[in-house]
Amino acid sequence: MRRLLPHIVGATLLSMLPQLPAHAVEVRAIRLWAGPDNTRVVLDLSGSAQHSLQVLKNPDRVVLDVADARLASGARAVPAATGAVKQVRLGRRPSGELRIVLDMARPIQAKSFLAAPNDRYGYRLVIDLGATQGVDTPVKVEHAPPEARVLIIAIDAGHGGEDPGAIGKHGTREKDVVLAIARELALKINAEPGMKAVLTRNGDYFVPLRDRMRRARAQAADLFVSIHADSIRDRRIDGSSVYILSQRGATDEASRWLAERENASDLIGGVSLDDKDDVLASVLLDLSQSASLSASQVAAERVLRQLNRVAEVRKPQVQQARFMVLKSPDIPSMLVETAYISNPQEELRLRAQRHQAKLAAAIHQGVHDYFYANPPAGTRVAQLATGAAPRPVLATMGDSGG
Ligand SMILES: [Zn+2]
Repeated sequence: MRRLLPHIVGATLLSMLPQLPAHAVEVRAIRLWAGPDNTRVVLDLSGSAQHSLQVLKNPDRVVLDVADARLASGARAVPAATGAVKQVRLGRRPSGELRIVLDMARPIQAKSFLAAPNDRYGYRLVIDLGATQGVDTPVKVEHAPPEARVLIIAIDAGHGGEDPGAIGKHGTREKDVVLAIARELALKINAEPGMKAVLTRNGDYFVPLRDRMRRARAQAADLFVSIHADSIRDRRIDGSSVYILSQRGATDEASRWLAERENASDLIGGVSLDDKDDVLASVLLDLSQSASLSASQVAAERVLRQLNRVAEVRKPQVQQARFMVLKSPDIPSMLVETAYISNPQEELRLRAQRHQAKLAAAIHQGVHDYFYANPPAGTRVAQLATGAAPRPVLATMGDSGG
């Protein structure tokens, strides 16, 4: 720990102890976010700080020392037990460090980093607590008898945890409404023979964009649908839009701005930027991406057509933008901006369970139409689509003529 203060040694350090240096960093809040695989601890700081992290056993605990720091007088109380964290303890060390001890329910791996300020938060110290290697059990994909596999639809509720997404005039948070719509969509997909939904997040926690794609790939998803709600300064603008990845420029300036904002999710969530394989990956990506892009286009058109029947559509064509979360080379992917949360009427509709169900039904119908028109070989849906088995009747939409 002392190495973090190379310029202050021995007697100098001791003589400084009784009074706090004027530049002591304040910890303004400690927040815990628990996901199924990870628990994230976030400290809001008044400025940049040096820290050290130790993982200790018997009992399992994580010790974080923040150099030259104290808890702000107005700081919120220590958070309650969440996820793998059983208890949070705080103490000031004689050397001026703020020590935070996380008592853990099980052995974990810990990673920490300082996140720079952005337009939503100041400096944050982020500690990610994950299961130790070998504990994770891969999820097995179920197969429908007889020997025809089910289609896996990855449903990605945007934002979460630290990152609320867009916020409406009445305080509605994008992360909440898109999770509700995503869950509703999952229910509808799971109710259909030959299809299974997997949610990339199923709670109020942050998942880095790359992890969302990894989760979809780990489940061998046949389609990736990211659910969002748009926001724009002009509160009169409303309607839904459907996007696919653009290889080069975005369709228009507005799409480019939107992509930049949605991609900033990782910055807001404070993800560590330790994925340095981007350049190499993008070269390989381009080779396999064109095939899934054309599939994305066809699937997105189906979804847009259905959305057009239940809500205003902002633009009648599928839009293109460089959304990070759509960059899976091998999985057709789309991003649905369900409505403008910045439009007060649409904001209120987005909060209504009835409207959430309507949007989910439209997306579901679009996904259904796409797969019945383009069934992957060897799937249960391929059997159903070719009449090897009766085509299921959907109860979710009033009109089945599409
Ligand atoms: Zn969003």
